[in-house]
Amino acid sequence: MAGADKLWRLLEEFSTGDLSPDSIAATSGKYVDKMDFVDLVTGMGAKYVGFTSGMELPKNVHKELYVFHFNWNSQHQQPAFAENFAILLGLLENSGTDRKAQIIVKDYHDTGESLEMPYISHERNAAVITEDLAEERRELADKCIMQYNTVYFERGEWKRPIKMARVRLPCPGNDCSLGTHCDWICYKCHTSVSFGYDDNFLYCDCGRCWYKHWSFQCKDPRHGAEWRKYQDNTLLSLLNALEPFEPLNILILGETGVGKSTFINAFVSYLTYDTLDDAMKAKELNCIIPFSFDTQVVEQGQYVQTTVRIIHPARMTCFH
Ligand SMILES: [Zn+2]
Ligand SMILES: [Zn+2]
Repeated sequence: MAGADKLWRLLEEFSTGDLSPDSIAATSGKYVDKMDFVDLVTGMGAKYVGFTSGMELPKNVHKELYVFHFNWNSQHQQPAFAENFAILLGLLENSGTDRKAQIIVKDYHDTGESLEMPYISHERNAAVITEDLAEERRELADKCIMQYNTVYFERGEWKRPIKMARVRLPCPGNDCSLGTHCDWICYKCHTSVSFGYDDNFLYCDCGRCWYKHWSFQCKDPRHGAEWRKYQDNTLLSLLNALEPFEPLNILILGETGVGKSTFINAFVSYLTYDTLDDAMKAKELNCIIPFSFDTQVVEQGQYVQTTVRIIHPARMTCFH
């Protein structure tokens, strides 16, 4: 009887232990899944980075870089894996036509780093543009988005014209039926796009671009993933017909010398720049009203009373 018990135990171990046929099949199934996935995406132009092979992510090699972060477990996190995989395939298909972006699949197996969910990050010139592409696309799914042509785009802070309007237009797509109720936001910074009547530029938080170089993608499901454009003349007349922002008048009262002009200039700078450092880096002093103030400077070891007068932003004059 003792011998039979031993046999049963051995059989049980064989069929349920780590080295059982089922367990080996499941583990090798994981390998097959992963290798199929890696074969597929590298065949389409992605680069595989696995840390067991001692490879590391390239630094500053490419201007545009997409990294698909994954490991075995994340392949079974559904629907997250399927969602990210679909985006990855889209990126690979696009990068086939213009090889501007490099696409990397980074395998977290054996790196010691934990990864709960797969995700795709987007970097440009080594700076992270988007932490999680799928999340961003979900956020933008019910928004109407506009895209500028980067060739003609002027980045940075631009003095905006006084008379502006929020862009509210129908989509140029033939099948789209959202009427005039589209509030258009920039695909990159997600801020509303505004039109300047005086210069015909369209502005967002990224910078500005002439009206001719923008394309549209509304939230109507019939629109699809394509970017659509208006005829230049049609777009310009639609933009010029927009309702401009209501001007708002603010009255500032105070005696001479209390700092009304200084306050207004400071307020303009506050609206123009995000931080004091940004303001310090500006080439010109950002002020709209001439103003002056007294200060002391050290000259040859002595304090000298000095009046600084700013008559024009580009010209600063000092009087002793
Ligand atoms: Zn923008
Ligand atoms: Zn549309």
